[in-house]
Amino acid sequence: MRKTLLFLSLLFSTLLSAQEFVTRYETSKGTQTPTYHEIVEWWQKLDAASNKVKMLRKGSTDSGYPLHLVFVSNAGDYDVATIRKKNKRILFINNGIHPGEPDGIDASMLLARDIVTNQYRIPDNVVLAFIPVYNIDGCLNRSPNYRVDQNGPEEFGFRGNGQNFDLNRDFIKMDSRNAQSFIEIFHELDPDVFVDNHVSNGADYQHIMTLLTTQHNKLGGVLGEFLNKTFEPGLYAGMKEKGYDLIPYVNSFGDTPEKGWPEFWDSPRYGSGFGALWNTFSFVPETHMLKEYQLRVKATYALMQTFIEFTGKNADNIRDLRAAAKKIDRHTNRIPYNMEK
Ligand SMILES: [Zn+2]
Repeated sequence: MRKTLLFLSLLFSTLLSAQEFVTRYETSKGTQTPTYHEIVEWWQKLDAASNKVKMLRKGSTDSGYPLHLVFVSNAGDYDVATIRKKNKRILFINNGIHPGEPDGIDASMLLARDIVTNQYRIPDNVVLAFIPVYNIDGCLNRSPNYRVDQNGPEEFGFRGNGQNFDLNRDFIKMDSRNAQSFIEIFHELDPDVFVDNHVSNGADYQHIMTLLTTQHNKLGGVLGEFLNKTFEPGLYAGMKEKGYDLIPYVNSFGDTPEKGWPEFWDSPRYGSGFGALWNTFSFVPETHMLKEYQLRVKATYALMQTFIEFTGKNADNIRDLRAAAKKIDRHTNRIPYNMEK
């Protein structure tokens, strides 16, 4: 009897919490995405309610608002030195670099809420670090009329930031305060895996989710080999188990699949290319803009779960390979700065 009561009270508290942290995406039945202020208030509330969550202010942005970084883990870790000491891997997830592509903003809120309310359990050896929304300036500039072909949500932010920079071209030149703050965060985290959530720009095909993996031969060495032979195939298999037929990012400009098309050249001015410079396994999920919003958010959620599961299972291998790659970098006396495409 006591056990049943305990179970019921646990279940009740889980249900209560889930209800308390319902998102605008859910109340609108998957047709709307929250505003910047709603996003920040929601994460602050989650932080206040759960010791698995820590929300920090990390530098400024061109909007004048601070950039936030939110850690989510079973043990509530948020100090990077402690995380390393505890032998945990850091999975860094960036959202809303293009605020007109808010799938990751909503999917990250749902994922964090489900972790906090015990509806989804992450491995103990993985710490998530989310940027809830990176291009705050663009997120504040909302309209139903940007990206008119996109199938939802009803209204969302603008691609450019406050200075009209495309922040996903700003990781080397760093003209924006957003990029300067991001780079400080990146170096502090030294993430094992980096995921930058996006939506595609218009090609049509059957698949909901595509994945741009940083080019393995550009990453090179033991990391490139692992990325190509183990990591990427592991993600495809993990998505298949969840019912998704993941395909590579469709970088098509006139050619048909029979003729093939080149991989996207993610130079370091893009998030994934920047991450690869630092021996981080880096990825850009791109959902299909013509699929309805709910399907895209669900696919983004499933892919983040797949990243979490793969990183947890391969934690030691990822640690050792990155350590080996860094050692090689330290002892090399010749660094090629160009490559044949
Ligand atoms: Zn994008």
